[in-house]
Amino acid sequence: MSKLGVGKEIVTNCSKCKLELAHLIVAMKDELTPHKVQCKTCKSTHTFKTKKAPAAKKKTTRKPRVSAADKITNAWEAGMSKQDGDLTKYSPKTKFEIGELIDHPTFGSGVVDKQIDNNKIQVIFKTDIKVLIHNK
Ligand SMILES: [Zn+2]
Repeated sequence: MSKLGVGKEIVTNCSKCKLELAHLIVAMKDELTPHKVQCKTCKSTHTFKTKKAPAAKKKTTRKPRVSAADKITNAWEAGMSKQDGDLTKYSPKTKFEIGELIDHPTFGSGVVDKQIDNNKIQVIFKTDIKVLIHNK
């Protein structure tokens, strides 16, 4: 890497052109960091910015942390908290209504989310959504 200094060229992002372009160093911050640079294309002078974009990008891709499982758990908690009645033991013969709480032998407690058709309901359990038979 060649030494940086006033009058030297450096390729950096031009804030006006929005492109990586050759700039002339107008002023130095310290021995290694330019302070002000002039774009050789549009001749505008701006503060030299060290590249921070890739680090910021990483953060944004890492952010949507709410997984599908978390969403289900949130919906389940919301459904459970709305009801204070007793849980109905699940049986395929029983007819369930939307919002009703189910006690399933395998999946545990769940909330009836949707009526899919006369014999099928969608139930939110703590970690999964299941379609169950009812009203047989
Ligand atoms: Zn420019």
